[in-house]
Amino acid sequence: MLKLFNTLSGKIESFRSLEKGQVKLYTCGPTVYDYAHIGNYRAYMFEDLLKRLLLFLGFEVTHVMNITDVDDKTIIGAQAEGVPIQEYTKKYIDAFFSDLETLNILKADYYPRATDHIPEMIKLIQRLLDKGIAYRKNGSIYFSIEKYPDYGRLSKIELSELRPGERVDSDEYKKENVHDFALWKEKKTGEPFWETEIGDGRPGWHIECSAMSSKYLGETFDIHCGGVDNIFPHHENEIAQSEAASGHSFVNFWIHCHHLIVDGEKMAKSKRNQYTLKDLKNKGIDPMALRLLLLSTHYRKMLNFTFDACGQAQSSVQRIKDFLYELKNRPFKEGENVEVNKHIDTMMKRFTSGLCDDLNISVALTAFFEMIKRFNVMISRDEICSRDSAKIISAVNNINTILGVLKEDNEDNLPPEILDKIKARQKARTEKNFKLSDQIRDELYALGIILEDTKDGTVRWKKK
Ligand code: AMP
Ligand code: ZN
Repeated sequence: MLKLFNTLSGKIESFRSLEKGQVKLYTCGPTVYDYAHIGNYRAYMFEDLLKRLLLFLGFEVTHVMNITDVDDKTIIGAQAEGVPIQEYTKKYIDAFFSDLETLNILKADYYPRATDHIPEMIKLIQRLLDKGIAYRKNGSIYFSIEKYPDYGRLSKIELSELRPGERVDSDEYKKENVHDFALWKEKKTGEPFWETEIGDGRPGWHIECSAMSSKYLGETFDIHCGGVDNIFPHHENEIAQSEAASGHSFVNFWIHCHHLIVDGEKMAKSKRNQYTLKDLKNKGIDPMALRLLLLSTHYRKMLNFTFDACGQAQSSVQRIKDFLYELKNRPFKEGENVEVNKHIDTMMKRFTSGLCDDLNISVALTAFFEMIKRFNVMISRDEICSRDSAKIISAVNNINTILGVLKEDNEDNLPPEILDKIKARQKARTEKNFKLSDQIRDELYALGIILEDTKDGTVRWKKK
């Protein structure tokens, strides 16, 4: 049984989906005013782990991740560059999708953009106006927090801190500013705006997630995730808007990950202490090592980013690859060792029960790496047989459906200089220049690429 910490109740709870076998999942996506940093990817990675676990447990998952392409920050960025907001955000959206692929993060079913969902937001705001929960002031529309008595349940703010009647326009604010918040912001010179039946203007940040989640997942759904910084005000406001409009519960499980920090401080664009995935790739860090690093600290603990830890994660990924390489390439004796099944079963049970215990990744990874260690010893003692190796490979692949740190080798993942060497070696071989061909093969081996010449004259390659 899967157990998860629910921020709403402040407790670990047994997970049950609303519909049997189906999970509706909403995860807050990027605000595309800059390149996403690896702190953001910590949040998306923990969500990927959760989603992969749900799939592994047999659930069908409908996953929605929004793209915030209009808000205070995107508007300021576009103004500074003097370009339309869509042009400004496009490069960050493209880079984001490319990073997700590089990090082997499973694709969501929908990536709705705020600018494509203005009518849905208008409808929701209109509902709140009709119910007397939202009100107009100077061309903008605000949510009246005193009309929603449950306000503060998620972030556990003191009711005495509430300042109804006072308004806040900024999309991001602190707990001390528990004011009525903007649903719709009045048109301002130089800012993008929409001509609508509720007036000319643009949406506030929070309303987009309420409108888009209900469009794709329904008014009540199973899981909503984000980083802890989303709890207040963003998620608190989402609950208020959605529940005040619909009259029923918005989300059953609220799950939040803690921050990735550097030198004791949250990694954030505003602090200028961020690394992007590209920065790390330029430093020679394998994205799969970063993936393992981001996964390997429990999601509710802070993760301190260091290059040493990246190096250790790199070694761990390599250990898995070397192990698989041995299993695939050693000539094993015929037959089967009954011990192998037992070890695989024990590892699988420890791995899944660890993850089902509020995503306890340490237990899961320990079980996995202990199994690798044990089988490596057995390989060195010639205690593994040919039928065992196939079973072990299949167990590793099974684990990888959750960890996702082994990516199919394909040419897209190879640096151009290696691709050039592979081509040069092929040419040398065709020209029967065996000395050069062997020399290039050795150079590639030193770079971690193994070539296999096939009978039909073609060459296959794989990473060591
Ligand atoms: P943003 O683009 O700032 O709206 O953030 C997108 C997602 O990344 C949100 O779920 C944030 O909570 C999360 N996030 C931002 N910074 C960090 C960090 N340093 N560590 C973990 N998650 C973060
Ligand atoms: Zn959101």
